Formats: sequence, structure tokens, C-alpha cells
Amino acid sequence: KPELHELPVPDIVSLGAYADQLQLEAEARGEVLPPPIRLQIGEPDFRTPEHIRQAAIESITNEVQTYGPAGGWPWLRERLAEKVRQINGYQVDASNIAVSMGGTGGLLSTLLATLNPGDEVLIPDPCWPIYLPQLQIAGAIAVRYPLDPANDWLPDLSRLDEQVTPRTRMLLINTPGNPTGAVFPRTVIAELLEFARRHDLYLLSDECYDQLVFEGEHISPATLLSRQELEEGRFIGIYTFSKAYAMTGWRIGYVVAGTRLIKTLVDVLNANLTNISTPIQRAALAALTGPQDCIEVMRESYRRRRDLVVAQLKAAGRYSYTPHGAFYTLIDVSSRHGEPRGGRQFSLDLIGVSNVTVTPGQGFGAISDEYVRISLAASEQALLLGVQAICRLADR
Ligand code: PLP
Repeated sequence: KPELHELPVPDIVSLGAYADQLQLEAEARGEVLPPPIRLQIGEPDFRTPEHIRQAAIESITNEVQTYGPAGGWPWLRERLAEKVRQINGYQVDASNIAVSMGGTGGLLSTLLATLNPGDEVLIPDPCWPIYLPQLQIAGAIAVRYPLDPANDWLPDLSRLDEQVTPRTRMLLINTPGNPTGAVFPRTVIAELLEFARRHDLYLLSDECYDQLVFEGEHISPATLLSRQELEEGRFIGIYTFSKAYAMTGWRIGYVVAGTRLIKTLVDVLNANLTNISTPIQRAALAALTGPQDCIEVMRESYRRRRDLVVAQLKAAGRYSYTPHGAFYTLIDVSSRHGEPRGGRQFSLDLIGVSNVTVTPGQGFGAISDEYVRISLAASEQALLLGVQAICRLADR
């Protein structure tokens, strides 16, 4: 087992802290710096809608707060199954759902429920950095498969087979993707599913941004499976309330899989969190049953900001890709003079020069080393100033 204190600190945290430290140092010298423009955090800049907050308050006031079932209350699981059928487009019922502590908790519990130490898991490069410590906790080994910046950040399917060994147990995919914003088309999803079948792998599908798509549609691999195949347990879908309903701090998500796998997962959930608290589950129910226009409002703002950023990058000659979903943009900051600089050094310099925080691409993988990620969950003004500063520094 790894030493837990050796788990890496994400750059998102350490760079934010660095900006804060510079601020404090300036204050100590008697200087006044404008507050940092923070573009590094992947968190909606909207408040959780009122009716969702109200549902939690009513539960606290009116319900007895006892332990609940480890996989979530039946009334929520039933409604989640309906959401999956209606929005994600595949057939499930409540027995296929387990409520988890956000997508993060759903992912970790899934890895603990399915993997043995030494198992290999194919994960994208670049990808959400938390997959790595989670695999480390599960004792599994991450094997990175490349997403190709020259091909809209899609996986290079011709190279996947070479990476399979007798220890490979799982293929993890994430669409809409963090940090790329890529949305995999149906043909790619079909090929990835075929690959998982060919090598008898779990297909773990991180769909935490399923409702934040600007162009095209989100295709869950489960829509290409029969109900029987879903029950056999190859597919595991990870979902969250964090992004679509601006509920990051509430910590609630859910896992969708075959009934047997969900039973195992519920045992793992029972052993590590007992249950998600009832007011939070009531809030989640209100999110599903209440007006859905809040999702549309947020999606449209992300789209407007995305268009603004893309237009600015085009004007600065730094445009490479238009994200189709999620709320991030990877910006190529490689020097035009040839020598590599690395996104991390760039990010540190950017804080020093312009007080703008971004996330270095290398935190997501080797392929995005010369990139930085900005989050679109910031005001248009902050994005305009931030992208200007990034392009200015990149062109130096
Ligand atoms: N998966 C991806 C790709 C993410 O970007 C995130 C959060 O940023 C998560 C999962 C987990 O989100 P949460 O635990 O808030 O549901």
C-alpha cells in the first residue's frame, strides 16, 4: 500500500496558494496588489438554485435524521433511474443506481470495488488529475493512453491495443472531457466499447459533464449496450450534481452499473461513508424534479464565455481547438522561438507578471505539458483580462 502522505498535491491547490502567498508578501511590504484573477478552479461560479437549497432546509426542519441506506434512499434512486432513462437514453431501474459522495466518491468506491492491487487501468493523457491518487489508493497502476491535440483531443484508437497487457482490467474514459472540453462522437464511443469487449475490460465512463454540451450530443457508451450486457457489469457510469446544478460543495453524485456490481459497490459505500446525509439527498431530488432551466442558463453563459475566449485566442494567433462541452479550455503556450518552457513555469511566471492563476497542463499529463488550462467558470471580464495576459506572456 502507498504511503498516503505521498499523494501529490494538485497544482490547482498549490498555485492558488502561491498567488495568495505573493499577495501576503506584497501586503507585508506595504504594497496593494489587485486581487488575483483566478482561472484555475473547475467549479461553477453560480449559486445552487434557491429551490434546491430550500429542499435541504425543509428536510432538516421536518425529517428525522437517522442513518439511511448505503446506496441512497429509494425515492432518490427511482428518480435518478428516470433521469438516466430520459437524459442519458438507456434503460435502468433503481437497482442499477448507487448514490455516492460526488463523482469523486463514486469513482473511488468503484475502483475499490472492482480492482485488485497490481491491476492496470488505461486512463487518458491528459485527464482529471485525481484519477491518479485514486488508482494509487486502490493499489492499481495507471497506464496513460494519448488524446491527440491534432485530432480534436480524441483518443488515438490505433495505439490502444498495444497498451493492453494480461494485467489490464479497465478502460477509463471521460467525455465531455476535463481538461480538453472534447466530446467524443458516437463512432469513437462505439470503437472504445468494442475495444473493451475485445479485451474483456471494465469500461468506466466518467460522465460528470453529461449535461454541459455546447455542440453535438453526449453519448453514453451504455446507449450502445443491451440491457443484458449492462447487467453483466462491463459498463460503469459516473455522474454528479456538482456541475449541472452548481452543487460542488454539497458532495452528491451517483454510479450506474449492473445490479450485481451495484450491490458490491453499496457494500464498499457502507464501509466508507454509511450514507449521504438525507437533506443532501432531498436537495438532489429537488434538483431533478424542479425546473431544469437553471442548467440551460449556466450552459449558455459557459458557451458565451467559450466563444469570447476562442475569439480572443484566434485574434492572438494562439487558437487550437473549440471545446464542445464541460467548461475548460486548454491553451497552447509553447514558445514560438522553439525552446520548451513547460506549462508549470509559465503558470508561475503568469502569477508573478499578471496575477492570473491558471492550471499547468502537465498536471493533467505529459501531452499537455506545453498547455495551461483555464476554467470558463469566471466572469467575462476576468476571462478577457486573463487570456490577454496569457497571450502576452506566451508571445514574449
Ligand atoms: N470527473 C471529472 C472529469 C471532474 O472534472 C470532476 C470534478 O472536477 C469530477 C469527476 C468530480 O466531481 P465531483 O466529485 O464534484 O462530483
